[in-house]
Amino acid sequence: MIAVISDIHGNLEALDAVLDDASRQGATDLVCLGDVVGYGADPNRCLELVHAKARFLVLGNHDVAALDLSAAENFNDVARTAIQWTNQELTSANLQVLRDLDFERVEGEVRYVHASPDEPPSWHYILTEQEAWNAFGACDEAVCFVGHSHVPLRVFLRKGRLVVLEETVVEVGPEDRALLNVGSVGQPRDGDWRASYGLWDPEARRLIARRVEYDLESAARKIREAGLPEVLARRLAIGQ
Ligand code: ZN
Repeated sequence: MIAVISDIHGNLEALDAVLDDASRQGATDLVCLGDVVGYGADPNRCLELVHAKARFLVLGNHDVAALDLSAAENFNDVARTAIQWTNQELTSANLQVLRDLDFERVEGEVRYVHASPDEPPSWHYILTEQEAWNAFGACDEAVCFVGHSHVPLRVFLRKGRLVVLEETVVEVGPEDRALLNVGSVGQPRDGDWRASYGLWDPEARRLIARRVEYDLESAARKIREAGLPEVLARRLAIGQ
């Protein structure tokens, strides 16, 4: 089973809890869809841990902005403040890890990408039906794993129609295609504060969407102690 994680955003407490849960659930493989850094207080330790444990990781928009602050021009003030802090904080070894990443990875029938597979460097969200069609149109694989929105989402293309599945355990049938957003480890935005990730069983073509409690108080305290914007500490508790 493959643990698919995304949008850790420097939240070490959430990452630790997710890695523990994944190994308890029997995951033997780990892949990361990017945005390991930005917002949270532990960018170095998160990147070191993910780089050591994940078979591969792909680039997120915050990872790019941590390397090149000009890419943060369209960020809001809080995100830009956090990524400037992150840029100063990251070790040169970790900056090099980010520099070596690609936008996406394809393995057999599965694609892994941070935002929409439709123009990965443009970081399109998949929030509307049109955006879902664009995403399906931009790749040939049966399954595409994405992150970026921090909101878990399972959209299937079934008999020519888009279907959003609410179940937390979904199976991709032989004729189906699926866009699977695994949500965010370190800063969920669907109103549920618990860390989000996915467990993918490639034989059964089954995804289990997991939520995991973590030490929220420590993560929030470290954000305050680092002098990062207060809102970044507060939003963790409300999952927004
Ligand atoms: Zn993100």
